[in-house]
Amino acid sequence: MEYNILAEVFAKLEKTAERLKKTGILADFLLECDTDDIYPAVILSQGRVFPSWSQKEIGVASLLMVKAIAKAYGIKGTEVEKLWQKTGDLGLAAEELSKKRRQATLFTKPLTVKSVHEGLKGLAELEGNKSQKKKLEIISYLLTSAKDVEAKYVVRAIIGNLRIGVADGVVRDAIAKAFFSEVFWKDILKQKINQKKRIEDILLLEKKSILIAEELKKTMPEVCGLEENNDVKYLGEKDILKINDFWKKECKYDIVLVGSAETGNALRAKITGIVEKANEAANDFALVAKIAKKEGTIGLKKIDIAVGRPIKVMLAQKAKGIEDAFETVGKPCAFEYKYDGFRLQAHKKGSQVQLYTRRLEDVTKQFPDVSGAIKKGIKAESCIIEGEAVGYDKKTGRSIPFQNISRRIKRKYNIEELAEAVPVVLNLFDILSLDGITIIKEPFHKRRAHLEKITHEIPKKLVVAEAIVTDNIETADEFYKKSLSLGNEGLMAKNLKAPYKPGSRVGHMLKIKPVLETLDLTIVAADWGEGKRAGWLSSYGLACRDPDTGEFLTMGKLGTGIKEKKEEGTSFEEITDELKKHIIKKEAKRVEIAPTIVVEVAYEEIQKSSTYTSGFALRFPRFVRIRDEKSVDEIDDINKVIAIFDSQRHNL
Ligand code: AMP
Repeated sequence: MEYNILAEVFAKLEKTAERLKKTGILADFLLECDTDDIYPAVILSQGRVFPSWSQKEIGVASLLMVKAIAKAYGIKGTEVEKLWQKTGDLGLAAEELSKKRRQATLFTKPLTVKSVHEGLKGLAELEGNKSQKKKLEIISYLLTSAKDVEAKYVVRAIIGNLRIGVADGVVRDAIAKAFFSEVFWKDILKQKINQKKRIEDILLLEKKSILIAEELKKTMPEVCGLEENNDVKYLGEKDILKINDFWKKECKYDIVLVGSAETGNALRAKITGIVEKANEAANDFALVAKIAKKEGTIGLKKIDIAVGRPIKVMLAQKAKGIEDAFETVGKPCAFEYKYDGFRLQAHKKGSQVQLYTRRLEDVTKQFPDVSGAIKKGIKAESCIIEGEAVGYDKKTGRSIPFQNISRRIKRKYNIEELAEAVPVVLNLFDILSLDGITIIKEPFHKRRAHLEKITHEIPKKLVVAEAIVTDNIETADEFYKKSLSLGNEGLMAKNLKAPYKPGSRVGHMLKIKPVLETLDLTIVAADWGEGKRAGWLSSYGLACRDPDTGEFLTMGKLGTGIKEKKEEGTSFEEITDELKKHIIKKEAKRVEIAPTIVVEVAYEEIQKSSTYTSGFALRFPRFVRIRDEKSVDEIDDINKVIAIFDSQRHNL
């Protein structure tokens, strides 16, 4: 297929902002497109060259593009820049230049969808010193062969900003619309009839074949004027609902008409569901489109997960507490520590390991330590496993908050050094594929058994998530408390019989974590800081109120969440300046403060404590903000603290 046809489709897509119109335009195109061209055409429509999970990049920035355009059209870079400034878009600049030059290049070979895709792929393969020169050559070749509107989209595709607004949802719906029956129900039909008058005109205009619900005979007699023949068939709504395959080629119906919106929506959901599900395994709508065209429902259902191609992860729902969790996932169930880190999906094939985040970004390069541990500790030729990577303090061994290790995900250089300074342990909790066999449909307890069998734990590097299986509330409560006391977020409750459902937020994996409301407290004391914090009051004594006596009751110290640099938020300096005005007593490094400032404080838990006059202490208190609008009389009182303490016990 000539690229020109695709570029015209892009132009149409660019012109409309309406999602339904975009879907229609793309669906019409997919129907016309040869099976061989579908993959490159769809991926290019998505403004991509590779599927979203691939880490390959074209690596051509705007400045190199300016050079390439100049080379292709034999003009100076400054002229391209001028045009760029005028149009605000290098694609439009290229289109304009291409139009001017049209006469001179009548005899170049036309671009095809495949040749453009291959050319762009070639750009991504180039690395090293001479790559710039080669990239210029490839782009220049593409541009000299591109006509007008083609030049615009080639340039935009290369710089990664196609601007035609085709999101995943549009591609999914277009695939469904192109290759599967379209479903309408009475209300939609009525609207169409109002616009077009005759039902025959609407339905048989393009000699479409139709399946009509018998029920419509009563409610919409105009529809049933259609005679039953090769192209028109009547069937009861219940039987229509039983049809599982709406691939046009197999079921033969272009259009299905039903009476109720409920049935119509159920059928539409069934059709888009098949496309969506296929994408959860393939993670690549271009591939899904190709298979939908070639093999329909059967092909889509056969799309399997593959080692090396990340799969959308299964997500969890929330439970209010242990009891609630038992109700949803059944008894007995598995409880696992809910670690506070980030999810990694690891694909192992021989000695190759690839790591993906929850959003399926390839982070293999950033975590050589994790790959190393997997190579050493996982005894399987190939597998896909998942776990939560948690950073820990090398000295104390305690887990550190996610924010402190997130820099490892972003780091591009000195990776080994950072891995040494900020080590992580991978807590494995699921397995999706083992030695070439997809096991997502196996029940959780079996998957977990496989995982335990192939994992040779390496302490502080690679372990299987701590778990218990129980039907007993007290046992689960104990486990929950233990998990929290170790600094974990809470527990995950898992249905023992449930499969792994890629991409879904399922009711058979639940998270249980304490959600405690913040407290508004006042500062009654502070310590002068040391080292980096010298010169600032840096640790603040917090207090709530006794509503009967008006006394302030202490309940812990706050030092987390306040910034060292002003630009980053409320700083120690700011708070110090304010507190200094209210110092009432000095004692070595410690000062007493007249209660004036109100701070909102978050925390993990309220604990009993004999250290503080309230009888309670906040576990891991964290500064949220200064509450200027509140006076000290309005801070939270001890009764509220007790109430939260009690509710938390109840939750545990
Ligand atoms: P949330 O991000 O709050 O929706 O909680 C779900 C996330 O908890 C998962 O995506 C994992 O990243 C993480 N997690 C931590 N421990 C586990 C575990 N044992 N099983 C499953 N997910 C876990």
